[in-house]
Amino acid sequence: MTKVICTVDKIQPLTSGVHQVLLTPQQEVQFKAGQYLQLCITDQDKRPFSVASIPGQQQLELQIGGAVADQYSGQALAHLQSNDTVTVEVGLGQAFWREDSHNPILLLAGGTGFSYVYSIAQAIAAAGVKRPVFLYWGVRHEEALYHMPELQQWASAHHDYRLVPVVQSPSDNWQGRSGLVHQAVLEDFVSLEAYDIYIAGPFPMVGVVRDAFLEQGAKREQMFADAFAYI
Ligand SMILES: Cc1cc2nc3c(=O)[nH]c(=O)nc-3n(C[C@H](O)[C@H](O)[C@H](O)COP(=O)(O)OP(=O)(O)OC[C@H]3O[C@@H](n4cnc5c(N)ncnc54)[C@H](O)[C@@H]3O)c2cc1C
Repeated sequence: MTKVICTVDKIQPLTSGVHQVLLTPQQEVQFKAGQYLQLCITDQDKRPFSVASIPGQQQLELQIGGAVADQYSGQALAHLQSNDTVTVEVGLGQAFWREDSHNPILLLAGGTGFSYVYSIAQAIAAAGVKRPVFLYWGVRHEEALYHMPELQQWASAHHDYRLVPVVQSPSDNWQGRSGLVHQAVLEDFVSLEAYDIYIAGPFPMVGVVRDAFLEQGAKREQMFADAFAYI
């Protein structure tokens, strides 16, 4: 873990509820795709956020918000908006991408849990991984989907990469999958035994997913989520 001061370069809305934050660390930082950082609001008040960017990129990207505007993200954003520099602790978490594994990969995000799987998806593309990769992203409304051009480019870069957005309460115009994101996975996979599964999203979702996926054959030691430590 590295504690570092970062310059706040940019804060801009990605959707009506989610902001993209770009930070430049004032010294080199080490982290792995899928790890998180803690924004130090005070010495005692530290809030975890997944790093959406990958090692080697100059800026650290965060995606902060969610469907329910809460104090957790609102106070963090207010701190970022009112300071030119902030202190963060980078390189935290055990749910990072297992680059050496040869298993097919399932990435599952609920809401802003997307930040976590986006980092892993970019790392997979950068490493030229030639294994089946499925990225399922669940949101409440289709307006909550962002970075779609980048994701579609990611999916078209290799025929083994598949992108499945799943909208819980879609409008009449939505032509994709609907319902809860993990239900879409359960419908699509007879067994999850072979897969390395990376999960991020609201804590209640992660608990439901863990139990349902274990029932569908997933191996516990091949399931990764930092939320497991909190639930
Ligand atoms: C290590 C760590 C990192 C974090 N990183 C971030 C971050 O980068 N950004 C951030 O804003 N917050 C982060 N958080 C806080 C928290 O995880 C988010 O606030 C949360 O993921 C926000 O979800 P949402 O409101 O976007 O999802 P929602 O809009 O509530 O849900 C999105 C989808 O998830 C599924 N879902 C939701 N609830 C359930 C359920 N009960 N059962 C089944 N499916 C469900 C549905 O498909 C739903 O459409 C982090 C927390 C930790 C511990």
